[in-house]
Amino acid sequence: MVREIETKYDCKIPDTRELLTSLPGIGDYVAGAVLSLAFNKREWIVDTNVVRVFKRYFGIRTTSEGRRNRDIINLSKIYVSTSNPRNANLAILDFAALICTSRNPKHEVCPVKKHCHFLKNVD
Ligand code: SF4
Repeated sequence: MVREIETKYDCKIPDTRELLTSLPGIGDYVAGAVLSLAFNKREWIVDTNVVRVFKRYFGIRTTSEGRRNRDIINLSKIYVSTSNPRNANLAILDFAALICTSRNPKHEVCPVKKHCHFLKNVD
């Protein structure tokens, strides 16, 4: 990958998802992280934690692997349609790590609990 960046891109990190994912070892998650966090572009980052948040909040059921689910990716694209996509992505990653955690999510302090599908359907 480093050699390709040196030879094909004159030592500059490509700034599109298409070019980044054409590099060996770079998938959609890393490409989205580079584009959003380094370039502050409106690019989505979807990992298993973000999938969990969207699935719970919107009540999405995935049959395929969540990170490749079209509904989740489309929601993520809408989510980062903001003036500061870097902060938006960091916010949802932090939210998933601190509030909407895999085990024992902290519903009681969740700022979006009012409209959360998951919470409405907990017994
Ligand atoms: S209410 Fe609970 S399940 Fe819903 S988004 Fe908040 S922490 Fe996650």
